Parts: sequence; C-alpha cells; structure tokens
Amino acid sequence: MDNQRGRGLSFSRRIYVPRTFGLGIGCICMMPALYPLDMPTWVWMFYLASGFVWPHLAYQRSSRAHYPYRTEQRNVLIDSVLGGFWAATLQFNPLPAIIIVSMMTMNNVAIGGVKMLVRGTLAQCTGIALSLLVFGFTFNPYTTTLQIYACLPILVLYPFAVGMISYRMTSALAAHKRTLSALSRTDSLTGLLNHGSWKDLLQLSFQTCRRTHSDATLALIDIDHFKRINDTYGHIVGDSVLRQFSNELKENLRAEDLAGRYGGDEFCVILPNRSLAQTQEIMERLRRRCCDFRYADEPELRLSLSIGLASCHPAFEDASMWLNETDKALYIAKNTGRNKISTGAADMLPDAVLIKP
Ligand code: GH3
Ligand code: MG
Repeated sequence: MDNQRGRGLSFSRRIYVPRTFGLGIGCICMMPALYPLDMPTWVWMFYLASGFVWPHLAYQRSSRAHYPYRTEQRNVLIDSVLGGFWAATLQFNPLPAIIIVSMMTMNNVAIGGVKMLVRGTLAQCTGIALSLLVFGFTFNPYTTTLQIYACLPILVLYPFAVGMISYRMTSALAAHKRTLSALSRTDSLTGLLNHGSWKDLLQLSFQTCRRTHSDATLALIDIDHFKRINDTYGHIVGDSVLRQFSNELKENLRAEDLAGRYGGDEFCVILPNRSLAQTQEIMERLRRRCCDFRYADEPELRLSLSIGLASCHPAFEDASMWLNETDKALYIAKNTGRNKISTGAADMLPDAVLIKP
C-alpha cells in the first residue's frame, strides 16, 4: 500500500510542473481569444482559476489522497473537461481549439495510452456540453492575427516541454536498463561475473583467440577445504572469505581480465593475451597472498587455493574443450596435494608439480 502510494505521489509530482506550466501559459496565450467575447466577470474569474489555481489544487488533491495515482488520473480527466469547456466557450475559435485538443490528446495518451485517450475525449465532450448548456452554441471560424501571435509561445514551449520530459524519461529508462543488465550479469555476493555471463564471455574469447591466433589462458581457482571453514567458523565468515578472496583476485588482475564466480567456492578467470607462464606468475602471486591472509576476528583461519591453468590451443574445437582442459588441471592440483597450481597431465608425473607451496 505504501509502495503504491509512493508511486502515485511520484506520478502526481511529475505531472505538477508540466500542468502548472502548460495551463498557466495556455491561459495567458488564449486571453486575446476570450477578450472580444465580452464575457461576465465570473467567466474571467473561472478562466483565471482554471489556468492558475487549478494546477495547485489538483496537486493538493492527489498528494493528500489515499490513492494518489487514481486521484491524479481523475485530475487529468478534469483537465480534459476544462479543455473542452474552454474550447467551446471560445466559440471553437480554430487556433485555440486545435491547441487545446492537441495538448489534451498528448497528455492523455502519454499518461494512459488509448484507454486514457478515449476517457479524455469523453471528458472533453462533457466540457463542451457544459459550455453549450451555459452559453449556447456559437461557432467563430476566424482566428485574428493577434490571436495567432498570442498563441505562439504555447505552440513552441509546450511541445518543447513534452519533448524534454520524454527525453528525460527515456534517459532514465536507459540507465535503469543498464543497471538491470549489469545486475543480471553479476554475482551478488562477490560482485564478479556470474556463471552464465562468464561462460558467454568464454565463448567470445575462444572465438577471438582462434580468429587472431592470440594467446589467452584460463584459470580455475578453488578454495581448499572451504566446507571446513564454513563448518568451523560459520557461513557468515565463509561469505566474508569469498568476498575478500574476490577483492584480492580483482586487485591481481588487469582491467581486460575476466573474472567470474563459477559456483560455490570455485572461481574462473580468462586472461586474454597472457601466456601460460605469465598466468602462472600471476596466479602464484595470488596463491601466496591468500596463504598470508589473516582475519582479525578468526586469527587461526587459513586459506589456500588450488588452481588449474590451460592456454587456448589450436587443437581445441570449442570453448568447452578449453574449459575441460583447465578443469582437468584443477583436478590434478586437488589430487596432488592442494595449495598449488597445475597446468595439466604433465603435473601428474612425480617430479613435475610446477609450483610447490
Ligand atoms: P575441496 O578442497 O575439495 O575444494 O573441498 P571444499 O570443502 O572446498 O569443497 P566442497 O565442494 O566440498 O564444499 C564447498 C562448500 O562451499 C560447500 C558449500 O556449502 C559452500 N558454499 C557454496 N556456496 C557458498 C556461499 O555462497 N557461501 C558460503 N559461506 N558457503 C558456500
Ligand atoms: Mg573448494
């Protein structure tokens, strides 16, 4: 209910300025069309109230209402009734009448599409009927030169204001879309790429490597005995370890390296234009830094990493072959003692563990 009311209030705030501006300027611009009709004082009072008092009254009505959105929609219909009333009262003087009808149509469509257009048109007809009841029907087919010039400000300024509002709304929507798209690609705990988006980038990197014959290396990193950390210190500490590790990972990489959370305590990185040897150096630095991690609240907590590496090879037919090769290397690192980096099958040989802790 509060959320609904909040949205309604923001809707009425968004309408308040354009209504105040549009009706105020419209009222001034159409005075030369009302003046020659020699109307009684109450008509002038009502005319000025429609232009200068009603916008504030409408805002007060909707901002104090239980359902501001619904009240604001009714306010928009009252705008249309007033529009119809003044178009008829100005004896359908062509230029003012056309301006009023087009302003109302723009507002109604912008606010509620075709449904609101139909309701708004009915409201305008009601306004016309009211005016005919009070003043009878008179049709004045001529707009004087003075009336044309007097209408110029509203003709220029109102479409400008509507254009600015839709431009701002489109920009805001585009920004929201970008934020949502970034969120859908990000792992919420670590801020790294999530599994799906990282895999999409892996495909792209694989294709780039094949096309340009450039170097690129994949790294799969798994925290050793992470379950034990959770079991001993609790999941909150476990989450904090994952976050701290992710920060460390980001700090050790270049902007063009693509780091993601593969799932659970497993992380994945694509390092474009990096050879296997260069990646080994980077990962070794990361592994050592993680070994040196100390947590103020849990001084005995220790962290170690097992890392599998594989470079993109011309023999790989697709990205999953490359990933499988890296996975095998990680498996070897895990099965030959953990806390180390492996580059594949050669590391299974007794003396060939590449980098020892
Ligand atoms: P190994 O050395 O073989 O990698 O063992 P491990 O304990 O690290 O690996 P295992 O796959 O047995 O356990 C991973 C654990 O990670 C189990 C799961 O509860 C935990 N985990 C997965 N996602 C999260 C998370 O988002 N937060 C926390 N705190 N724990 C998680
Ligand atoms: Mg693990």
